Amino acid sequence: VHRFIGIPTAPPDSILGLTEAFLADKNPSKMNLSVGVYKDASGQTPILKCVKEAERRLIETEATKGYLSIDGLPDYREQVRSLVFGDSIDAGRIAILQTPGGTGALRVAADFIVAQLSPARIWMPSPTWANHPAIFAAAGLASETYRYLGSDRTSFDLAGMLEDLNQKTKPGDAVLLHACCHNPTGVDPTPEDWKAIAKTVAERQLIPLIDFAYQGFGDGIEQDKAGLQTILEAVDEAIVCNSFSKNFGLYSERVGSVCLVAADSETMKAAQSQLKTIVRTNYSNPPRHGGAIVATVLQDAELTTLWKQEVDEMRQRIDALRQQFVETMKTTGAGHDFSFLLKQKGMFSFSGLTPMQVDELKNKHGIYIVGSGRINVAGMSEAKMDSLCQSVASVL
Ligand code: PLP
Repeated sequence: VHRFIGIPTAPPDSILGLTEAFLADKNPSKMNLSVGVYKDASGQTPILKCVKEAERRLIETEATKGYLSIDGLPDYREQVRSLVFGDSIDAGRIAILQTPGGTGALRVAADFIVAQLSPARIWMPSPTWANHPAIFAAAGLASETYRYLGSDRTSFDLAGMLEDLNQKTKPGDAVLLHACCHNPTGVDPTPEDWKAIAKTVAERQLIPLIDFAYQGFGDGIEQDKAGLQTILEAVDEAIVCNSFSKNFGLYSERVGSVCLVAADSETMKAAQSQLKTIVRTNYSNPPRHGGAIVATVLQDAELTTLWKQEVDEMRQRIDALRQQFVETMKTTGAGHDFSFLLKQKGMFSFSGLTPMQVDELKNKHGIYIVGSGRINVAGMSEAKMDSLCQSVASVL
């Protein structure tokens, strides 16, 4: 008997599936504004200079490919602690595990919540990154949504979020928060909004799961920690998932971390041992190279300065592309004002384009955008801006 015959085909991933279609598209002026990858003016996803230099050093100094420990490289973990938490929290309260990317971190976090905090549920913003509900479902973690995006589809609905958290959650539920550069909308809370969110999270006794995948892409490496810090001032238990895919351009090296903040160091150690058990039975231990690159850069003052410059350059270029898109759209005569994009942060924005318009852009113009209308601004280019805006104008 054949056991594999009859297995149904899974639907393609809503975002990565589009890239497969993009690669197969023969249109010479095609443009991929779907997947969240930074591209420079020549359309490449570059290796940062600080990364190249760190790799050069590693080739000379790395002496073994032996396994890392379950929680990864100690030097890496120390740098993550200092980068993400600074000195605001006693290091003895934070367990940090190096993970295969932010996705790996989120999966470990979800498994931990299911194993240790049941019968927990997790509350996610609506909308959120499509992989969030998928990861939680795969871990067997029930998810619910809270209101996030205003009905104008361009602003933050603080009142709706607080009302949902206040009226619908139970103590001990987890709540997913995007630390900055909300994916897919680019709409972030203000510092005042964060205070109100933190107050509600504390009052409702929720466990914050903070997804920090875009540090440096909002207002700056330090500035982007503000929301997370406000939350951590209000509660003494949280989980933070970070990623170096975007801000180090280390996408394919798979480097991130799951960080658990506990009320005291004894609790931290017990929780850490449980996190390690989850990792051991999943991927055993993380890959070395990406973590070693991050540690090498952040341990070296000169390379850190270079890294900060390179992150600033990426952020400023994305901001300039937002500006150029808004200005160029004005010249098309389409009569549609896109200035709301200027307030939004990070790689993504909700364009307001409908699924039909998104389809037309793909089929007639070879422009690939996620069905929700989410645009990866970091995938635009100065050189192709006119043709992009002409195409968008033609479907409005
Ligand atoms: N969280 C969000 C909101 C993201 O957009 C991404 C990547 O697109 C991730 C987490 C995880 O990224 P990675 O697993 O590539 O590090």
